[in-house]
Amino acid sequence: MPLLILLLSIFLPCSAMASTELVENYVIQQVSEGIYYHQGVHQEADSENLGAIANVGFIIGDECVAVIDSGGSFREGEILHAAIRAKTELPICYVINTHVHPDHILGNAAFKSDKPKFIGHEKSPAAMVSRQPHYAKQFSEILGNAYQGAEFIEADILVTTDAPLRLDLGNRPIVLTAYTTAHTDHDLTVYDVKTSTLWTGDLLFVERVPALDGSINGWIDALNKLIDFLSPRYRFERSNDHSWTWNGFCA
Ligand SMILES: [Zn+2]
Repeated sequence: MPLLILLLSIFLPCSAMASTELVENYVIQQVSEGIYYHQGVHQEADSENLGAIANVGFIIGDECVAVIDSGGSFREGEILHAAIRAKTELPICYVINTHVHPDHILGNAAFKSDKPKFIGHEKSPAAMVSRQPHYAKQFSEILGNAYQGAEFIEADILVTTDAPLRLDLGNRPIVLTAYTTAHTDHDLTVYDVKTSTLWTGDLLFVERVPALDGSINGWIDALNKLIDFLSPRYRFERSNDHSWTWNGFCA
């Protein structure tokens, strides 16, 4: 069964002309049936790219929609919301934040009027509280007008590391898994059972230097768990000297 992996990266802008261009160029790609995403640019967040540097998207079930990361600014959240409405009028029942880095949460407030349940890792509330003053100051300056309207919204539902959470979007089960410290201390992945698609958040970077805000050894452990979604035969293993070895395909 094919399994597609989405990763998170990043990107953004903001003269009025540049913003207009971004809206027009906000490309939504279909990964599989009912799964869509926008690929962030490999840039640092700024007023030109609206902070749209992470991969964000949504899954459409028979009854409702789950947003997976809301974008790197309130403005990107609005654009993502419009992109969803171009695909479906079904209610948006969940906004899932894979972690609280700004490029993944600053669009949350654009979905408030839909009254979704906001979902995060059990440690995400503490992470958000501790970072909010810094993020608010830094990103309001970096993003300019695109930041206006952003809010730090605490999760309604928390996922614990000992118990994956299963949700149903209507004939569309998804499984949320919380990890111990890796990219951050509060990473979540989302697995779409119907299409075997795994949203990895920032637990996987491709063609970009990863940002480490947690534990490198923990991240290697987490990567093995991601690999298990693909095949239990691919493994990193820790040797006696505590170094790590990639064993590749171990039939
Ligand atoms: Zn991150």
